[in-house]
Amino acid sequence: MDVLLRALEGALAMLQPALPWLVPLLVAVAVLRFPMPGRGPGFARRDPWRTFRFGPRATVMERAARRCESAAFIAWGRCDAPATEVDHVFPWSRGGPTVESNGQALCRGHNRSKGAMRPPWWYVLGLERRRRSYFPAGADVRVFAVMSDDDRAARTVPRVPERRSRMRS
Ligand SMILES: [Zn+2]
Repeated sequence: MDVLLRALEGALAMLQPALPWLVPLLVAVAVLRFPMPGRGPGFARRDPWRTFRFGPRATVMERAARRCESAAFIAWGRCDAPATEVDHVFPWSRGGPTVESNGQALCRGHNRSKGAMRPPWWYVLGLERRRRSYFPAGADVRVFAVMSDDDRAARTVPRVPERRSRMRS
């Protein structure tokens, strides 16, 4: 026990000179990584629908005019590349649902570099700010990673009913 305490004291003494910049640095990292309050999926289960298809995919692509919605650099400007995929702003693997309000059109490069990180507040705010300049009039620019009652109801019926009827005949 005594040895442990002395080791702890030693470590603290070693850290002491670094505290004036270490503490602000840790605070800054925590602030920059903080998610957008009230927009994430919370503790939702994974959406059984894994990818954007059909109507939702077309809507997300069209409202972005088929151009990548990512920033050109960190949070500035807008990427010039054509959009090739529809991505979950709040990752599907972390409970982000496959709904239009959680979708964004991305180019291949930005989709690959984004990964499965939970987007921090400045990422979401930056996306919403860019969207105000190109979204069709009346379209909601805000990101919401939650399912509506309609979204939930849609998941209780088979997604591709035609195939079923074909199999029966
Ligand atoms: Zn891009």
